[in-house]
This record gives sequence, C-alpha cells and structure tokens, in this order.
Amino acid sequence: MPTNKTYDVIVVGCGSVGNPTAYHLAEAGKKVLVLDRRPAAGQGDNKAAIGGVRATHSDPGKISTCLDSLKIISNWEEKHGFDVGWKPGGYCFPIYDEALEKNLRDLIPYQKQYGLDIEWVGPEEIKEIIPGVNPIGLRGGTYSAGDGQVSSILLPVAFQREAMKFDAEYRFNEKVIGYLREGDKITGVKTGRGSYSSEWVVLAAGADAAEHSNLLGIDIPVNPDSHEAGISAPIKHFLSPLVVDLRPGPEGKTANFYFGQNKEGQIIFCYTPEELFIGTNRESISEFLPVLAGRMITLIPGFKNLLIRRVWRGCYPMTPDGIPIIDFAKGLEGLILAVGMCGQGLMLGPGAGKNIASMIVNGKPRIPDEAQDCFRYDRDFYKDKEALK
Ligand SMILES: Cc1cc2nc3c(=O)[nH]c(=O)nc-3n(C[C@H](O)[C@H](O)[C@H](O)COP(=O)(O)OP(=O)(O)OC[C@H]3O[C@@H](n4cnc5c(N)ncnc54)[C@H](O)[C@@H]3O)c2cc1C
Repeated sequence: MPTNKTYDVIVVGCGSVGNPTAYHLAEAGKKVLVLDRRPAAGQGDNKAAIGGVRATHSDPGKISTCLDSLKIISNWEEKHGFDVGWKPGGYCFPIYDEALEKNLRDLIPYQKQYGLDIEWVGPEEIKEIIPGVNPIGLRGGTYSAGDGQVSSILLPVAFQREAMKFDAEYRFNEKVIGYLREGDKITGVKTGRGSYSSEWVVLAAGADAAEHSNLLGIDIPVNPDSHEAGISAPIKHFLSPLVVDLRPGPEGKTANFYFGQNKEGQIIFCYTPEELFIGTNRESISEFLPVLAGRMITLIPGFKNLLIRRVWRGCYPMTPDGIPIIDFAKGLEGLILAVGMCGQGLMLGPGAGKNIASMIVNGKPRIPDEAQDCFRYDRDFYKDKEALK
C-alpha cells in the first residue's frame, strides 16, 4: 500500500491538461505523481478531440496560452524525435454573412495585439485555401496561418514518455476520492489504494471536476455538455487548414460546424448542436451523421462520396462563461485548479501546463497579467461569454 509517499506535486487527471502539466513540472525538476481513474493517459475527453490547435481566440488568456501550445506542439518532433501528428496549415473561418463578417473583422486588431497572426482574406483567396468551397455568397473570411492540427491519440503518449524520462510517476485505474489537509492547506490526496502527500496538488479532472467541489469544500463551476465527432477513411490530401463554419444550420440542429483533413488524409469533423446535450452521456446518436453530412456537402459539394470510418461522442467541460479556470484556489493553499477547458482543452493543455509549472516553480504565471486575469477563479462567471467559444 503506497501510503504517505511524498511528492512535490500530485496531478489529479492525466488528460489534455494534467499530462502536459506533469511533463513541464518534471522537466523543471519537480517530483511528480499523476493519478487517473482511467487505464491510460488521455483516455478521458482528450481522445474525443478532433485535433484542432488554434490561437485564434477572442481573449488574451486563450490566445497567449495557445500560442505557447503551438510552439510546443509544432516543435515536438524535432525536439523529441516523436511524431505527434502535427499538421500545419492554419485555421480558416469562411464567411457568408454580413454580421459575422463584421464580428470577425472587428476582432482582428484585438487578436493581433496579443500576437496572433491573422488576416481577413477575400473570397478568391478563400477558394484557394479551401479548394471546392461553395462560392455562392462567399464574402471572404479569416485565415490564421500559424494554427494547425495534432493527433489527440499520439499527444498523450508523447507527454507521458518525456515526463517519465524526468522520473514522473503515473498511476492509472486509481481514482482520487478525497484530500489530505492541514487547516486551509491541501497536503495530498486519498485514493482507493492509499494516501499520497505533496507540497502541491493540481486538479485537472476535466468533466468530473465539479465532483471535487464537495471533497474540497469549494464551488467548482464546471458543467459538461456532450458533442459528437467523426472521421472518414483517408482521401488524397487537398485541404490544409481546419475550417470553421460559424453559421447556424438551416436544419435547426447545428449552431456551427468544423472539420479538417488530418496528417493521414482523413477528414475529421464535429458540430456544435443548437440545443446542447447537457451531461456526460457519451453515446452516439443516429441523427449526427445525416445532419453533419448535410452541412459538409453544402459547404464542399465534393464531400458527397466520403467513406465514414467511425463516430464518437465526448464532453466539453464547460464553465458558465466559456473560459477555463487556471488559478491558485484562493482560500486553499497548495491547490491549483486547472479545470473548465470547454471545447479547447487539447489546444490549451501544453501551454497551460507550462504556465502551471511556472506558477509552482516561480510562484507566478508565465503569461502576461492581463492574460492570466481571464483564468481567475474569483471572476464573475456570468458577466461575459467568450465570442469564439
Ligand atoms: C467531439 C469533441 C471534439 C473536440 N475537439 C477539440 C479540438 O479539436 N481541440 C481542442 O483543443 N479540444 C477539443 N475538444 C475538447 C477537449 O477534448 C477537452 O476540452 C479536453 O479534453 C479537456 O481536457 P481536460 O484535461 O480538462 O479533461 P480530460 O482530458 O478528460 O482529462 C481529465 C482526466 O481526469 C481523470 N479524472 C477525473 N476525475 C478523476 C479522479 N477523481 N481521480 C483520478 N482521475 C480523475 C479522467 O479520467 C481524465 O483522464 C473536443 C471535445 C469533443 C467532445
């Protein structure tokens, strides 16, 4: 029984955020333990992600964090000799609607202020960026060339492998069921197999984060909703960027949809339902493919003969305002909350992990104050919603 073994940091949850956090901490010389209730790294909602990695956001927190993620992911193979399925090619939002055009154009100066490489491009250029796109009513769109795609299956393996080189310990099939505390300081965790002490605990429990509200005696406002995705058989490479169509669908079922072609040539796709599926039911439903197919074929008619391989459903761990919580848990010493990654945990994870490591190692975040402010735990969660949620 591993009772009372002591670590510098215990990371609860080996998902999109917990796993890179463990890597950055171990690399910085910390003695790290990662615990996950599932049998391997990235087996929570991480593996549901379709692999989009963009710094194209509307708040400085996500822009700064995802710029860091892009640096880490795009250099991974060169630095570590391990292919994570990185495919550069940017993100493109084709626009057919005057109001949406205004919204996106107005955001560009703000996005650029935080270092995002993004431009508004005309319809002719969009037709080159998205070959075969429906030209009727196309007004242009935004293109951010530095964004890209990664494999959500390979990335967790990559982070775990490197973290273990720095002696990080991983324990799977081990659920955290309680916390050790001395007054207002969290001093470790309890699992079904024993207790582990640590200087710091990072809570990165994804869609299950709210379960820890009672265990910790604080409110963790994370409410998951579920989203379906799918993937085709490989086809000849023709599409470089990940494409986001922000229009609500005429069928009344979809708020927007997005897709890309991964490094293997497969088309990978997802939509945001108009009426959200609140909760953690991860079963696929029969209406997904027909609805999705309607949208895809309307945007790119050439998609009508795609062979679909499989579909799946996973959760977005949502906060009320669509922005994560990455902060010291005020009132509880020794605890960092890294929860509420919404629909962007895969792209936030590597940068967020680096930031959390800085919070522990240097006592302060590495991203600018204004960016870190977005992630504050004591913010008003009901004030604003993120525009590109
Ligand atoms: C269809 C779909 C498509 C998506 N596409 C993208 C995309 O293209 N790009 C992107 O960035 N994001 C995407 N996402 C969102 C992304 O998958 C999530 O935001 C992300 O996985 C959340 O990361 P996390 O680390 O918070 O949670 P997870 O990755 O789920 O990790 C949390 C981990 O904590 C563990 N855990 C929970 N409770 C405990 C406990 N008590 N003890 C021990 N372990 C525990 C879980 O087992 C899990 O492994 C998509 C999501 C879906 C559903």
